Amino acid sequence: MPRGYTDITLKGGPHDGKVYSQMSLYHLPERFGVEDDKYIGFTKNGFSLYKGERSRAWLAYYADCYVKRENEKHKAGMVYDFEKTHFVLRCGANTKKGNMCKNSAIEGGRLCDIHNKLEQVEYSKYTFPTNLTPKQIQKQFREKN
Ligand SMILES: [Zn+2]
Repeated sequence: MPRGYTDITLKGGPHDGKVYSQMSLYHLPERFGVEDDKYIGFTKNGFSLYKGERSRAWLAYYADCYVKRENEKHKAGMVYDFEKTHFVLRCGANTKKGNMCKNSAIEGGRLCDIHNKLEQVEYSKYTFPTNLTPKQIQKQFREKN
């Protein structure tokens, strides 16, 4: 392997044993998310389940989160341990320009960190109905999956 690169091995969870080869040592994240290949995206009349790379119209997806293990001496490669599966929801707010915010909502919430701090928030018409809690949205996503 070239200098400055390493292999990442995932331990536990849904991707146990999966190896990512030749990752740059200089950009190794503390957390590593494996995103589901299915996601919910908005349509003109609501939302729908899609497969493949997320489009700009994404609303929610699952990501399996792995956390970097302390480096063990004399061992080649890095190990990441399964932490939990995150339900990633897109922030439901509109930006000042009227576009849908591109950030992810804070865990268990409907809005991103920035919009969560604002007193007044204009929700996007493309987002999930605001009377649904993140838990209820997650349930609908599970049923569609
Ligand atoms: Zn936002």
